[in-house]
Amino acid sequence: MDIQKIEFITSSTNIKQCPGGNLPEYAFIGRSNVGKSSLINMLASRKNIAYMSGKPGKTQTINHFLVDDRWYLVDLPGYGYSKVSKKQRKSWAGFTKEYLTNRTNLYGVFALIDSRIPPQKSDIDFIYNLGYNQIPFVIIFTKIDKLNQSQLNNSIIAFKEALSGYFEEFPVYFMASAIKYTGKEAILNFIEEVNNSINVIDQ
Ligand code: GDP
Repeated sequence: MDIQKIEFITSSTNIKQCPGGNLPEYAFIGRSNVGKSSLINMLASRKNIAYMSGKPGKTQTINHFLVDDRWYLVDLPGYGYSKVSKKQRKSWAGFTKEYLTNRTNLYGVFALIDSRIPPQKSDIDFIYNLGYNQIPFVIIFTKIDKLNQSQLNNSIIAFKEALSGYFEEFPVYFMASAIKYTGKEAILNFIEEVNNSINVIDQ
């Protein structure tokens, strides 16, 4: 599957503002600077879907993009370090959490992990919470062009170890590089497979 058409629909700060209807949606989230905007642009084959940030923590809202009139790609605010006040950060966590736990047409969360850095507590906590709340998710290791094969293997092993106390089986994962366009097809095919397995009643 390739994305033919992508349109920005709306920015929300609570679940009531999110688009109505039953189209399946897939959310992208990770620590600030993980490469989320670059990955989304790669998936959409566009330069500007989410503009590349100089400042970490720029996505402050839940952003819905309608893809090929069939599904929503959702850009969520980053977590972890950001250059905003604690109060603002708390409210982001609040509405992101509300969205993740209550959005019934959310069929997949893509949890982005920077493959270059050792497992971070905020990432492990976030993924643990997805599992705990039974939210369907997969992992995407980003920026893999920065590592050679053995460094990449070591990174993934370290992450597996960090999660091993929480999950019996390691979650499904993808590897991506926005620079080399790696992972695009696998991620979009995954979304397509889930879309095909859903009986969409109300469009
Ligand atoms: P966001 O804050 O998560 O949206 O991250 P951005 O997409 O803005 O990327 C943060 C930084 O990482 C930027 O300097 C990007 O150029 C760089 N970056 C993003 N994706 C990749 C990648 O796949 N490979 C490399 N080498 N750098 C990347």
